[in-house]
Amino acid sequence: MPREYLIATSAAEALAMLAARPGARLIAGGTDLVIDLKEGKRQVNTLVDISRIPELKVIKEANGEVILGGAATHAEVAASQFIQDKLPALAAAAAAVGSPQIRNVGTLGGNVVNAQPAADTAVALVALGAVATILGPQGARRVAVEDLYEGVGRSRVDAGREILTHFTVPLWGEGEGSAFARLSPRRALSLPMLNTAVRVQVAGGKCTRARICIAPVAPRPFLCAEAAAVLIGAEPCPEVIARAAAAAREAARPRDSLLRGSGAYRKDMTSVLVRQTLAEAFTRATGQKIGGPGLQAGATGKVYS
Ligand SMILES: Cc1cc2nc3c(=O)[nH]c(=O)nc-3n(C[C@H](O)[C@H](O)[C@H](O)COP(=O)(O)OP(=O)(O)OC[C@H]3O[C@@H](n4cnc5c(N)ncnc54)[C@H](O)[C@@H]3O)c2cc1C
Repeated sequence: MPREYLIATSAAEALAMLAARPGARLIAGGTDLVIDLKEGKRQVNTLVDISRIPELKVIKEANGEVILGGAATHAEVAASQFIQDKLPALAAAAAAVGSPQIRNVGTLGGNVVNAQPAADTAVALVALGAVATILGPQGARRVAVEDLYEGVGRSRVDAGREILTHFTVPLWGEGEGSAFARLSPRRALSLPMLNTAVRVQVAGGKCTRARICIAPVAPRPFLCAEAAAVLIGAEPCPEVIARAAAAAREAARPRDSLLRGSGAYRKDMTSVLVRQTLAEAFTRATGQKIGGPGLQAGATGKVYS
């Protein structure tokens, strides 16, 4: 177990603390890391706490982009009216995490760096096209969130040397909509059996942009290009949404899991969640209810249990 606990007051100070102490590691909310330490999965001499650094907690708009600090908590993101208005998929994903206690301390940065494929806000950030800024001894680098995964539980961010300082999400402007939904055995404190986040844009009555992220159906949040391709250039309607959902079902590869359910069941449910989230996102994008058989607008953020 760690022998030293340091509280950093700036990102630069946190980096200096890491550099001076081999075997040190960042801690934000600690909701993943403390369990890993107790179970002996990580050996750490020093913990560097980044949860009180103001620059890592921002939630704001600048130059047409949303900036989200790496240490912004799920509770802060879920409660932000700005995020609810601009990025409803992310607000809903943050609201779906764990329980109030977990949301009060768990952070966006921790959710991504812990590298679990079905981490709720990570799935939303991938669908939204978020880019992470990572500060290290060699300076800053910017990486799309979906490219930060080495494997299950293995991140390309080295939390012993680097800090994920913030995420940037470009605003698409007129005619955009996003949505998130989750299937889980209970409404709180429950692993997602499946979660889905989507972002679309509509111009001139046609879908011009689409990102669809589904998890856990692969070792990382799965960005489904096949389903997005069905939407691009098409008029959003129940039939097109159903074809995109069928493409997502075809592309998804969920495994049989004692905790999450059979692969076959979750493959079928992929198309349900994709249909629901697309219906909601297109309803938001166009201001017109996109309904139809099996489609239920108003499902955003829905936790199916
Ligand atoms: C009871 C319980 C229920 C949960 N329910 C859910 C759930 O429903 N959905 C879900 O997605 N997750 C859930 N989690 C997992 C966890 O709460 C989230 O993944 C959370 O976002 C982790 O954030 P944290 O700040 O606590 O990370 P920490 O535990 O502090 O850190 C996690 C990892 O990321 C590194 N790290 C943290 N911040 C940074 C940074 N800014 N830069 C670089 N490295 C960093 C740490 O070194 C560590 O390796 C649950 C956990 C518990 C214990």
